[in-house]
Amino acid sequence: MSTGLVSQDTIVALATSPGANGAIAVIRLSGLQAITITNGVFKGKDLLSAPSHTIHFGTIRDGEELIDEVLVSLFKGPHSYTKEDVVEISTHNSTYIIERLIGLLIKKGARAAQAGEFTLRAFLNGGMDLSQAEAVADLIASENKASHEIAMNQMRGGISNKLQQMREQLINFTALLELELDFGEEDVEFADRAQFEALIQELKVHIVKLIQSFAYGNAIKHGVPVAIIGKPNAGKSTLLNTLLDEERAIVSDIAGTTRDTIEESINLEGITFRFIDTAGLRETADTIEAIGVTKAKEKVRQAKVLLYLYDDKDNTAEEVILQIKELYYEGLIVILVRNKIDLEGGYYPNDMDTAIKDALFPDYSDSLVGISAKDTNSVEGLKNILLDKIREMAIEDQHIITNTRHVEALQHALDALEQVEQGLDMQLPGDLLAHHVRGALRYISSITGDIDVDRDILGTIFGKFCIGK
Ligand code: GDP
Repeated sequence: MSTGLVSQDTIVALATSPGANGAIAVIRLSGLQAITITNGVFKGKDLLSAPSHTIHFGTIRDGEELIDEVLVSLFKGPHSYTKEDVVEISTHNSTYIIERLIGLLIKKGARAAQAGEFTLRAFLNGGMDLSQAEAVADLIASENKASHEIAMNQMRGGISNKLQQMREQLINFTALLELELDFGEEDVEFADRAQFEALIQELKVHIVKLIQSFAYGNAIKHGVPVAIIGKPNAGKSTLLNTLLDEERAIVSDIAGTTRDTIEESINLEGITFRFIDTAGLRETADTIEAIGVTKAKEKVRQAKVLLYLYDDKDNTAEEVILQIKELYYEGLIVILVRNKIDLEGGYYPNDMDTAIKDALFPDYSDSLVGISAKDTNSVEGLKNILLDKIREMAIEDQHIITNTRHVEALQHALDALEQVEQGLDMQLPGDLLAHHVRGALRYISSITGDIDVDRDILGTIFGKFCIGK
């Protein structure tokens, strides 16, 4: 790579969480001098003669002063995370020990690592491609089964392999197109245009699927935003409380989580649902009347799912139909929820529910459920609908894109492929076609970093990591 970012420095950082209460901290070094520098402060076995992938007990000393008893793990490049020599020192988890040890290693020639620098080196040294490196950050940030699964798949090269296949197919064709150019005036076609067109079609289908998967991927990664809307006294806060109640016991056990943010989300079978803007809902009645239609629309705009609550005493079917049409936007999942079915005469479904269904299915919604918001069992059906709706977004056996950078690159690649397609229709000469194909290739390759990636882009990507990763 000609990014000029690979440096000869040996870097050092705390690899475990700073300030956490755990028993052990791990300090990591990577670079040419990693083993020599560690050996200079370590009393125990001579690390320079120790084989790779071995662990050694000993002490760290600053001159005569004993700093800690430690375990040192050795990984000799290229058989390490960064592909360089890597040393991991497990110390007792004391802020004092960590500071002293890192200070000592810096004094002996290491340099403090920047955010994401270990993973950046892994990428620059060919240990992983860019999308895999990004997945490392996602994996570390993953908080539930679904986001963990997607990040793990991406880290292990799921998306890279798919993109690699596409690249190879395109490269083969560009090579043939370019060969035609060598023959100049002679009117030869090495690249079969019909086959080429079929290939472009096939690639477009793959890319469109990947782009579509982003809606799901993004929802999984950041949680599915849900808006609860309805008239005053429809039971919005009651429903929210019922949904949150079961979770609360689990949530409050997680040390270090902020209750304020966690409280308003639930985790259903590994998928997080975030109830947006619920502050108003809890204190005042967050109703269309109270917050105004524009505000309600804004709120719904931020949501992927709208839970619209009504009941058969305070609402009319016309009102509900009108408001859903007003609030709807393309792609919004609308779940109509008729509340208070436990009240006398509140049986479900009644004529009102049927009228609403008739007017709104299937263009605005395809889910209507009757509940009693006060009753946990009754809310189960609603939970299942929520889960089903999100799972429907996932395409079977499909790689899932969770990264905005990737989806943008894919969109550009798709545009370029469309230009190739138009070019084929217009029977453009090979050099012009090759130009558009190279454009598509550039965008596809930028996802995995198979072309030189701008320093600024790398800076942005790896800057999001913490120091030590
Ligand atoms: P909000 O204004 O939409 O947030 O409505 P609330 O959740 O504050 O509920 C308004 C009133 O309806 C309260 O007195 C609730 O106890 C009551 N309520 C909510 N859900 C139900 C239900 O399923 N059945 C019955 N019988 N009452 C309910």
